[in-house]
Amino acid sequence: MSRVAYVTGHYVPHREAAVHIEDRGFQFADGVYEVIAVKGGHLIDAERHLARLHRSLGELRLTSPMADAALRVVLGEVIRRNAVDTGIVYLQITRGTAPRDHAFPKAATPTLVVTSRRARPSDPRVARDGVAVVTIPDIRWQRCDIKSVSLIANVLGKQAARESGAFEAWQVDSDGRITEGTSTNAWIITRDGEVVTHAADHAILNGVTRLALLDVVRREGCRLVERRFTVDEAKAAREAFLTSTTADLLPVVSIDGAPIGNGRPGLLTERLRAAYLAHIAAE
Ligand code: PMP
Repeated sequence: MSRVAYVTGHYVPHREAAVHIEDRGFQFADGVYEVIAVKGGHLIDAERHLARLHRSLGELRLTSPMADAALRVVLGEVIRRNAVDTGIVYLQITRGTAPRDHAFPKAATPTLVVTSRRARPSDPRVARDGVAVVTIPDIRWQRCDIKSVSLIANVLGKQAARESGAFEAWQVDSDGRITEGTSTNAWIITRDGEVVTHAADHAILNGVTRLALLDVVRREGCRLVERRFTVDEAKAAREAFLTSTTADLLPVVSIDGAPIGNGRPGLLTERLRAAYLAHIAAE
């Protein structure tokens, strides 16, 4: 079956789908995006994704090309036309096509692109064995809360992780504190059982999985603190894990080669992962 994409008003074959060379997304990374999980053909945590989309749009003074109800119809249609049962739907909104000039164009229609694809079946060994992370300097701008398509620092960071055989790179700010991964949020569980993750300020993207997990952590009756933590604190933690729409929740078993706890996924991490997967199933 051939794939279908949506590009500003048209459903087109994926291989022919294109935007103009002067689209501001291409020229300036002047756009925002969302990645929403699809399970059983349904969007997971759609309200939270759309709320974050509107926040990102508003912060960049971008306008949505359509109301949420219409956007949901397009998302659903792209999922349906690609026969995606389990996978993701990707949407990107840019400021549109206009002659190249840094300042906003006077009149441009926002570009909306939607694609969807099935998830590669995740290897159960990854969740069972956990993943390695490395640390890298956080060289990003000061508005990482906006889900901008300007991802070059994240791209370089993920590549650094790959080249060192790690799953993810945790970015470290100038005070030696871990902000987040290149496409995931970072969590530790301290020796006294406190679940810790960076507060949702301008230094991190407030992950939809992060938000869902905060609810899970509270429901499970765990002690929760949203604060910054250092690399040393993370290395000395009892457990660690990461979260994202595509990774769900994965145990972190080493940081820069140093084992976390006994080097195996932690018990509380496994409990939280099970509770998070139950939340997704309930959605
Ligand atoms: N941080 C960054 C920098 C990301 O790119 C992502 C994934 N888009 C996340 C965190 C996790 O966010 P979510 O749980 O919404 O996928």
